[in-house]
Amino acid sequence: MNNEVNSNNIFLALQQQFEQSNRTVKVIEPIADKIASIKEKWNISEDTLFGTILYRFGGVVFDGWVRLLASGERDIVSWNEALCLNDYIIVADDVLGGLFGLDTNEKLVYFAPDTLEWEDMNVTYSQFVRWLVEGDVDKFYETFRWDNWKSEVLELGFSDGINFYPFLWAKAEQERSRKAISLKEIVSLALEMHNQLKHTLVTCDECGSKYYQSASKMANLCPECSSILYGYENCAHEFENGRCIKCFRDGRASSYLKELDKLILD
Ligand SMILES: [Zn+2]
Ligand SMILES: [Zn+2]
Repeated sequence: MNNEVNSNNIFLALQQQFEQSNRTVKVIEPIADKIASIKEKWNISEDTLFGTILYRFGGVVFDGWVRLLASGERDIVSWNEALCLNDYIIVADDVLGGLFGLDTNEKLVYFAPDTLEWEDMNVTYSQFVRWLVEGDVDKFYETFRWDNWKSEVLELGFSDGINFYPFLWAKAEQERSRKAISLKEIVSLALEMHNQLKHTLVTCDECGSKYYQSASKMANLCPECSSILYGYENCAHEFENGRCIKCFRDGRASSYLKELDKLILD
């Protein structure tokens, strides 16, 4: 009984927040079968914010751009099964094919459609929902938006996305064109590219070590050298048999590092 009261309170509070939001918030109707399949799969308590969204909403769309997944069309269980991402539960996505996942520490990660990387957002699910309602979502997507984007995306179905060509993760010499297609198609291609990149080996210009292209923010430098020379975030190396299992770099020092050592020692 208590659980139900709690869930009702959360539901009413959410409805109020959605109504008062400056965003255009659209709520999708839940479907009984889908609710049952979520309960069967994850056993999430009804009196949490997550549970209330999953069981009382079919989905929630913010400005036509970000979609919270729940128990309606393209429900959270089917969508996760279709994507087969074992490390995360995908709880929301956007029209670009960006994915918001919950990691094992119950923090949000974002699969960015341009870098094809999983980025830590350092927020919980509740903080994420609050951000969707009243946070600076526009700033987050600033570089991706175009004139009159809103009227265009408000027309989209819950299962559609905007595909850019050249793709967001590819270099574009001229302006990208865009077209509404199924989100599944956009996401599948991006994930496939991500997996390919993850295992593409390139050679560092500075130290000569091989490394995974996706492990470094810079085109021709390994994470170690791009960190030393340009202050980019280094890989948190984990060496096994002389190679880092995360970036594939070997243990060699960069020539620049050697010079620096010499200067300090002299
Ligand atoms: Zn290097
Ligand atoms: Zn490494």
